[in-house]
Amino acid sequence: MPLDRSAEPVFVHSTCPHDCPSVCALEVERLSSTQIGKVRGARDNDYTDGVVCAKVARYAERVHHPDRLTAPLRRVGERGQGRQAFEEISWDRALDDVAEALLKAEQRYGSETVWPYFYAGTMGLVQRDGIERLRHAKRYSRQNSTICTKLVATGWNAGVGARRGTDAREIAQSDLVVVWGGNPVSTQVNVMTHIAKARKARGAKLVVVDPYRTGTAAQADIHLALKPGTDGALAAAVIGILLAEGFADRAYLEKFSDWDSELEAHFAACTPSWAAGITGLGEEEIVAFARLYGQTQRSYIRVGYGFSRARNGVSAVHAVTCLPMVTGAWQYPGGGAMQGQGTIYGLDETLIQGLDVKDKSTRLLDQSRIGPILTGDPRDLGEGPPVTALFIQNTNPMVVCPDSAKVAEGFARPDLFTCVHEQFMTETAAMADIVLPATTFLEHDDIYVAGGHTYLQVTKAVIDPLPDCRSNHEVICGLAERLGAEHPGFNMGTWEMIDATLKASGLPDAETVHAAHWHDCVKSFEEMHFLNGFGHADKRFHFKPDWAAYGRAFAAMPALPGHNPGYDQSDAERPFRLVAAPARSFLNSTFTETPGSKKREQRPTVLIHPQAAADLGVADGARLRLGNKQGSLVIHAEIFDGLQPDVVVVESIWPNSAFEEGQGINLLISADPGPPAGGAVFHDTAVWIESA
Ligand code: SF4
Repeated sequence: MPLDRSAEPVFVHSTCPHDCPSVCALEVERLSSTQIGKVRGARDNDYTDGVVCAKVARYAERVHHPDRLTAPLRRVGERGQGRQAFEEISWDRALDDVAEALLKAEQRYGSETVWPYFYAGTMGLVQRDGIERLRHAKRYSRQNSTICTKLVATGWNAGVGARRGTDAREIAQSDLVVVWGGNPVSTQVNVMTHIAKARKARGAKLVVVDPYRTGTAAQADIHLALKPGTDGALAAAVIGILLAEGFADRAYLEKFSDWDSELEAHFAACTPSWAAGITGLGEEEIVAFARLYGQTQRSYIRVGYGFSRARNGVSAVHAVTCLPMVTGAWQYPGGGAMQGQGTIYGLDETLIQGLDVKDKSTRLLDQSRIGPILTGDPRDLGEGPPVTALFIQNTNPMVVCPDSAKVAEGFARPDLFTCVHEQFMTETAAMADIVLPATTFLEHDDIYVAGGHTYLQVTKAVIDPLPDCRSNHEVICGLAERLGAEHPGFNMGTWEMIDATLKASGLPDAETVHAAHWHDCVKSFEEMHFLNGFGHADKRFHFKPDWAAYGRAFAAMPALPGHNPGYDQSDAERPFRLVAAPARSFLNSTFTETPGSKKREQRPTVLIHPQAAADLGVADGARLRLGNKQGSLVIHAEIFDGLQPDVVVVESIWPNSAFEEGQGINLLISADPGPPAGGAVFHDTAVWIESA
């Protein structure tokens, strides 16, 4: 909708759309109808609390970047060569060409040969999820969205039964905050705001469980630097100590869970010395943490994503969710745990996603396995047709997906048609036949929900779109018309769709929410703390989940919570465990183009322990080669003592082109699906290292 020019405030409300649980409420300085200045956190939103990360604070760098795409492009040169391989064409011509290619593919192989592919480059629901409406209306192949939340959500839901938890604002009332497998200093800065309040007002302790000394761990009272993949063992040993030393709330366990004598005996066997042998932590560290946790009623676990990204990630997350059950921490203000608040909003997305025309019999393809899928792996395609046409929005699979050599091989297939709708010439866009220029969140309207808090937000464009850039919604509707796809959502404007979605969900209308900037969807204390029962039909927390209900690969799941050895363990040939963690100034592959981010991150590096470096005979800054059976790459060493000697960390996601041989860190990451239901195993990799 057009900008309201009648009253131009200096700062305009907006919402950060990037793939981050904070979904910050923003105040954006509008300098003119086409230019922004400062971006700051909304001060009167009590979650954002005036704080945003540095990468978004300097968003003017990104929205006004000279490399923004500004015209539809058709490739006339070699794939992967960048802007010079394309010529400009009109929007009508571009959409006609895309529609013609999709229809041609469909005529030859059937509708499932077309695979609309997307993720969370924008978290706004209309602009992110509208591609689903086109998919369902056309019966194209479906997408199993496994690249981010699948593993952690499965692990959480197996025990808790509903994706919600203690409101993050309650952290201020906690006496102990455990950040488990996350690094909010880099990836969700607002969590630190609330932790700081608890530390200042109550002297709360901060414990961080993470394989390396992150920015968050550096601020902690206790940092448990365990080996990657061993979180389940640590959790089980802590429970064993809680039971043995009288910290368990047995009345609570009895009332709210499936606790039994088998579990009692199981955890009794999970001793500190057993866990020390697996995690690489000292026994005394494990015992001290368990006692601190057991002695503190108001203990809050912020369950991160990091430790879920492994073949045993689901079982590890489930084991960690058992902790507040044993102490009964859920009963207290500031107590319990939280991973995400996805289920509290109750939004009816039928109109946006076309759920009323969804056909569940159409093929479901695993997003994280795009490499094997495009290269014809029968485990994914079965008897179905090859994928011969891709339409991509909001993601950069050439860089962000596992097994990136296979991804590149797939995108290079001469018989594959690819259209990418993007803001920049990403490495995926460079492989496309047609590239369409996209608006940013400041140039379109949308509606947002969050994982990390409870506010729903509605935004209007802050500035006019860059000439010739179109929103995802406009492009989807333009394609639908040409493809003969039918759904009421294709005939609506963005604002109309936001308003209709809110009304269908029983929420205030779009203008009301927009005028207030946000609408708090938090439930009662009892519901957020599960004091009326957990999310399963029997209202109990499940220590012993029925894993068969969660995915086909349930046989790989342990019957009881604890250590699951089914991960890529190191061995004589590959003695190091690699964690591919997020860099502070990037968000997946977004922000790798902005000068401020590049300046801070400098170049790809591998953090390596001084002892390991000495054993290899290399100094700080040395060129190292890291490899496994998927390939190898060259990277510079940064000697760092905040991890175990057999663990290395590469913070990314750097573009592939930032590496000497043009292959980024996901070259080494397997596309194996994490059981039981799939999920990318980004932090589950054993590698060899040698001097390059
Ligand atoms: S912390 Fe997350 S949501 Fe907030 S501004 Fe930064 S990227 Fe956006």
